[in-house]
Amino acid sequence: MTKRLQNYIGGEWVESAASATIPVIDPATCETLAECPDSTAADVDRAVKAAREGFAEWRATPVMVRAQYMHHFKVLMEANFDKLADMVVRENGKTIDEARGEVRRAVEAIDYGIGVPFLMRSDGMEDVSSGIDETTLRQPAGVFAAITPFNFPNMVPLWFLPTAITCGNTFILKPSPQTPVSAQLLYELLDELDLPPGVVNLVQGGVTSSMALMEHPGVTGVSFVGSTPVAKIVYETCTRHGKRVQAQGGAKNYIAVMPDANMEASVRNILGAAYGCAGQRCLAAAVVVGVGEAYDKLRDELVKQASKLRVGYGLNEQTQMGSVISAASRERIERMIARGVEEGAEVILDGRGHKVEGYENGTFVGPTILGEVKPGTTVATEEIFGPVLSLMRADDFDEAVEVINSSHYGNAASIFTSSGGYAREFKYRVNAGNIGVNIGVAAPSASFPFGGQKDSFFGDLHGQGSDSIEFYTERKIVIERWL
Ligand code: NAD
Repeated sequence: MTKRLQNYIGGEWVESAASATIPVIDPATCETLAECPDSTAADVDRAVKAAREGFAEWRATPVMVRAQYMHHFKVLMEANFDKLADMVVRENGKTIDEARGEVRRAVEAIDYGIGVPFLMRSDGMEDVSSGIDETTLRQPAGVFAAITPFNFPNMVPLWFLPTAITCGNTFILKPSPQTPVSAQLLYELLDELDLPPGVVNLVQGGVTSSMALMEHPGVTGVSFVGSTPVAKIVYETCTRHGKRVQAQGGAKNYIAVMPDANMEASVRNILGAAYGCAGQRCLAAAVVVGVGEAYDKLRDELVKQASKLRVGYGLNEQTQMGSVISAASRERIERMIARGVEEGAEVILDGRGHKVEGYENGTFVGPTILGEVKPGTTVATEEIFGPVLSLMRADDFDEAVEVINSSHYGNAASIFTSSGGYAREFKYRVNAGNIGVNIGVAAPSASFPFGGQKDSFFGDLHGQGSDSIEFYTERKIVIERWL
């Protein structure tokens, strides 16, 4: 019988009150890995109560001790590195190398959390008036929740959890119901830490539990990562309920390639950016704008290299691109390709109907390249979230910047060039939160806030870096006179 997952509340594994479950399917083999309970508002209420009850003891636990728990967590993550990576492949479909990269990034996020004793310090000044001193205190703010997507089931939850709890808050994770087993593995490791009850909680489920967390008066703030339509719902719901919120949404990332770029190195990099994780990265390269004569060179080289990519089962070390997350995703991606064709794009490489020997029922889409894509068309503007690269022409640098800035998304944008002048203008003028210069995937490391503008981010303080310390703490100003 398929295993039904449990919630982790108040330091114990508990059954969800839900009767409904969501099957967790390995997208390459179609094997059902587990049943994810569609947790109810009652489950959320139980988790929030546990987190509230745990808060007083936890905030009074010395910050160095809180950080030590994260040291120990890191050690356990390293010891279980292969097991965690293996499960990411099985429930997400990406390649084992990509899964290892993700777990490495997750560990780096713990490193940042370990730095909280230094990062949470605040400032003060004597004699703001005669004999009066003024100090800023930074205090934990309460119970925080994170609602996370399927595409990085280890890394994204750990963008939040280590910093939130080391700042002295208690925490509830509601992961994607498409990749809940990875979350369960993370919590099995957290369980080994013997944290005080209620510090870390896990509620498995989908929309019902997300909404219940956002509407619960006991939750102080919510970190969300997922698609733009849901990010908007999260932002609106949380603000309506008086919560702080950071909602990272979807993307359509552009790459401009100047004629002076090193073409070979650029193509290698763009290939990884477009087809890594089968294009299911919020920082994936979606549109490449070839400036002037760069377009033809790029097209020929990209097609040559992309058609050689080995698509297959992620646990096979030879595989270079895995499956997409589900049959529904594959259908959506194939519909978007067809839409591109209707809108006049040329299909240079067609990944529709891709079959992998031995995995005939797997949800694979081969690398796809659409050429002569026009600004304003669906494939130029909407997120596809699959291995589809659109190629566009621009006569010059200014036209490329105009096309990029016309996007309603603003997650990332990159330029490939050997000119410092173009690079500088690109950084200066392009409206996107993460900018790459000769870098295809402009992913900020854990100590920098994860940028995101326009429809790619709703909120004020971003995830990661110094913003996360602000988000997870409350400031108090103390003005003192002692006679
Ligand atoms: P999704 O928006 O479908 O789901 C994200 C989370 O929200 C899940 O936990 C899901 O259960 C929950 N959810 C779904 N519908 C909801 C609703 N109506 N109300 C409340 N909660 C709801 O996203 P996904 O398909 O899991 O992930 C892919 C998306 O995430 C892509 O758009 C990608 O660009 C984006 N993403 C963004 C970033 C970033 O940092 N900006 C990072 C990773 C992924």
